[in-house]
Amino acid sequence: MEVIMHHLRQRILPHLPRTFTTSCKSHSSCAAGHAPKPTLVDSISRPSTHLPLVSRLFQPSNLRDVGQESRAQGEMTCKSQRLMQQAGLIHPSNPGCYYILPATVRSMEKLVRLIDQEMQRIGGQKLDMPSLCSAELWRRSERWDLMGKELFRLRDRHGAEYCLGPTHEEAVTELLASQGTLSYRQLPLMLYQMTRKFRDEPKPRFGLLRGREFYMKDMYTFDVSEEAAYHTYESVCQAYNRLFSRLGLRIVQVQADTGKIGGKLSHEFQLPADIGEDRLLVCGSCSFSANVETMEPGRTDCPQCQVGTLVESKGIEVGHTFYLGTKYSHIFNATFNNTQNKPAVTEMGCFGLGVTRILAAAIEVMSTEEAIRWPGLLAPYQVCVLPPKRGSKVDEVAGLSEEVALFLGEALPSLRGEVVLDDRTQMTIGKRLKDASQLGYPYVVALGQKATEEIPRFEVICQQTGETMFLSRDGLVDLLRRVETV
Ligand SMILES: [Zn+2]
Repeated sequence: MEVIMHHLRQRILPHLPRTFTTSCKSHSSCAAGHAPKPTLVDSISRPSTHLPLVSRLFQPSNLRDVGQESRAQGEMTCKSQRLMQQAGLIHPSNPGCYYILPATVRSMEKLVRLIDQEMQRIGGQKLDMPSLCSAELWRRSERWDLMGKELFRLRDRHGAEYCLGPTHEEAVTELLASQGTLSYRQLPLMLYQMTRKFRDEPKPRFGLLRGREFYMKDMYTFDVSEEAAYHTYESVCQAYNRLFSRLGLRIVQVQADTGKIGGKLSHEFQLPADIGEDRLLVCGSCSFSANVETMEPGRTDCPQCQVGTLVESKGIEVGHTFYLGTKYSHIFNATFNNTQNKPAVTEMGCFGLGVTRILAAAIEVMSTEEAIRWPGLLAPYQVCVLPPKRGSKVDEVAGLSEEVALFLGEALPSLRGEVVLDDRTQMTIGKRLKDASQLGYPYVVALGQKATEEIPRFEVICQQTGETMFLSRDGLVDLLRRVETV
């Protein structure tokens, strides 16, 4: 980074207007007779903040239009996939597998932090379980055969069979059982992980929405009774709703089928979207909604309020909750000592969130055909600063751009590492504004004519609202102070 900064300074400093160099700070010492102008140099001692430069970011497609070519090959199956590939956020490898490129990893890490906050707030404890799961465990639950071709199976050098875990009910219940009998005082126990999962999809499609390798948050809960398990179930559903509301995603929580996981009660968290693969029935009058699969065919009247009409819509499943009862705890003997000091079988729940899927689904529903829009909290970078084109009339504010970018990180700790400088000054500001719009930085700060005025003003574009304003440095700080980061 030192080296980059050095190059940057070498390139920029010779063009700096003299008002921004120390020799021009006072009337007397300025040989050129420049009037003193407000300067940012005073507020910055040495640039200690990391300032990412757009020209150095590893976004291989670098906004070249790969759309045409790949659409012709019939690979682009939806908007989020096309936009993410065009923007250099993901890169395809094997069918249903992607390289997750640096900007997307930043975004995913933010989502992981957000999920951690919500899971730990209700008492969740994070752990990490092996992806290699022994066939023996899966045979005990009878899912080795039940899962059929969806399971990736392999053998080790000794001939022992394994699968690459798509879910971990067996593993976590076995783990609990191996600890001996717990006390009722230790329950509820809520264990979760966020790891890579594997599923041999017959037809992987829609980019990160339906892959064969993906990140999932899976939580497993253990309770003393059915009643307590329902209480836990409810608290996880509330945590999910809080999470989606912080992301600004309007989610529908629908009653669902328990499928291959098994159990008694289940909900899906669906994000309504045209490309969604799930069909939902949503009541127009009350909060009732259900997956079509769980309803009697052709039903249009609401079973909850009796007055509303059910309307069908499509959704992307981004979360799923199950009350499992004792299905797995009974098989693996995960018990606890109750208040009478008698052993009893724990009541379980399991709760999934598609981490990579939430990211792609959010992009799918928030973006336009041309431009990516993120949930504010998840944007890879919050602010992009645009210096003018090299050699343009206002080239003199090029150095000020770098200072502004560094200053924001220093003045606002929450924006540290969140500000990038689009140093591709061989390109016009218009072209770079278009790129910035396509990548969806929530805030774009462009330096043009108004930045050369006595009190420099910056053009600020809030890409979430489409608003443009001209702000002084203080105005900019006031605006960005309100930006929430995670
Ligand atoms: Zn209703």
